[in-house]
Amino acid sequence: MEKKIHGYFIKNKKVLVLLICGNMGVAFSYVIWSLFMKEIADSIGLGDFNAVLELFVFGILFLVFFFFINNFKEFFRRKLLFSLNAQLRCDLFDSILKKDINSFQLDNSAKYISVLNNDVAVIENDYFMNIPNIVENIITATIASVTLLFFHPLIALIVLIFSLVPMIIPKLYGDILSKSRSGLSESLEKYNAKIKDLFSGFELIKSFQIEDQTRKLHQEVTGHVETSRYNFRSRYSRSLINQDVLVYLSAIVQLCFSVYLVIKGQITFGVLLGSMQVSNYVSNPLKQIGEQVLNLKAANGIKEKIEQIINDETDVETINEKSVTIDRATPIVLEHVSFSYDGNKVNLSDINLQFHKGKKYAIVGSSGSGKSTLLKLVMNYFDTYEGKILLGNQLLSEIDKNSYYQHFSTIHQNVFMFDDTILNNITLFQKYSDEAVMHAVRRSGLEELVSLLPLGLETRIYEGGNNLSGGEQQRIAIARALLRNSEVLLVDEATSSLDNELSMKIESLILAQNGLTAIVVTHKLVESLLCKYDYIIAMRDGAVEEFGTFDSLIEMNGYFRSLYEINR
Ligand code: ADP
Ligand code: MG
Repeated sequence: MEKKIHGYFIKNKKVLVLLICGNMGVAFSYVIWSLFMKEIADSIGLGDFNAVLELFVFGILFLVFFFFINNFKEFFRRKLLFSLNAQLRCDLFDSILKKDINSFQLDNSAKYISVLNNDVAVIENDYFMNIPNIVENIITATIASVTLLFFHPLIALIVLIFSLVPMIIPKLYGDILSKSRSGLSESLEKYNAKIKDLFSGFELIKSFQIEDQTRKLHQEVTGHVETSRYNFRSRYSRSLINQDVLVYLSAIVQLCFSVYLVIKGQITFGVLLGSMQVSNYVSNPLKQIGEQVLNLKAANGIKEKIEQIINDETDVETINEKSVTIDRATPIVLEHVSFSYDGNKVNLSDINLQFHKGKKYAIVGSSGSGKSTLLKLVMNYFDTYEGKILLGNQLLSEIDKNSYYQHFSTIHQNVFMFDDTILNNITLFQKYSDEAVMHAVRRSGLEELVSLLPLGLETRIYEGGNNLSGGEQQRIAIARALLRNSEVLLVDEATSSLDNELSMKIESLILAQNGLTAIVVTHKLVESLLCKYDYIIAMRDGAVEEFGTFDSLIEMNGYFRSLYEINR
């Protein structure tokens, strides 16, 4: 079912109703206050001292009511806003989390950060806070109008007519404001993306001393953002000023008319004072409604944008009803698999391979030969390939993704680290026994590092793992896979940023894990390592050129051997 922003109010209707009750109470208190004013003015004429005491008691009672009802209203207002904001944020985050890896990577994640920060704030302020306020103002204006009718019908009529005039402003300016607010949101998105980009390149910026150029890039996007903000503000303030002018115009007319009635003796001074007081509670709320509706209209574009994200199902991982769960991921069988990213260039052609449990496979080949693409297909990133990929005797495309990812772990060149403890980075926030964790730590060769740290596993890893070496990060990635008891480990040039000695250590570590099926894309063509692999797959131009053990491929004296000799 399509989610709408106003749907969040419906979800919280109980609190909303209580808030509206509070609003009514508050509006009622305003009316009492104006009656109080009228009584004061009228009792001066009567010259009765008892009236003073009565007024005082009345005033205190009013105060108690005022205090209670305002606290009541504010309590439910806070409660409502709390739920609305939290629910919207969680829904937005959920819909982003539902995207599949590919479509998420197509967008810059800074876009989503901007939506969660900037756009949600707009909805909070101009929609969630505004609507209860508008309701309160409508109630106040209605109750005050009725009271005014009792004071003097003609005054009531004039106040109402002239107070409604400023309401044309939102009609006139609404669309243009909505457009410029959306424009602002867009440039904030771009700003976020740029900042994220520049900060990720901080090291590069410093080492190549391109601070000046970076500053210029930043100035440019800042210029765009501030220009959009300036345009929005100038339109907004222009419409607000026009609205104020109309408000004052109506106040002047109404005041002059009331004074005219007093002079003519048609109403008492008390009625003048009381009606002036009440008419404030008609015209002020209406003025505020004008402003609030203006904000509401301005937020329209953002509202639509957020609704679109929440309801976007196009890139969401489709949950196949028929999908099956598996308890074993091997053998992995590729039969006549061909694949193209763009439908033109063939990136993989007619691949036939089998990966068996516990065996270790090295994939080698020149850059661009399709090694990463092959791993991505096995990792279930794409389903647009020709041919068949089977796990056991199940088609990969028919396997439930959750079940699938329980059996597979991957290690990339850049190991992602959460800004959290080493422990949480290994367990990935899941529950494991202490022994299981220690076992994984030992097997991945992290024991020494952990024992040297004063806080051990509770040591915090800073942004992106900056306080860990590349080798330590790789070990953590291995520990993750071991802890999950993954059956298959896919490694894509994980060690290429490490020095030879270290990458040998890491690769040997992977090769030493009994029972683990490892498919390792490697460019370190070292005999002592390669001969430990059960099989080597040599790829060239998207095809498997050679397949076999190290010795058999050397003996074959073909493509692999030439690669090996060049790299030696
Ligand atoms: P390797 O990992 O062996 O260096 P890849 O599998 O990354 O090679 O790439 C194989 C071919 O596919 C290359 O020609 C590369 O340009 C192309 N390629 C890789 N990723 C994409 C992509 N996302 N879109 C289009 N072409 C791609
Ligand atoms: Mg690659």
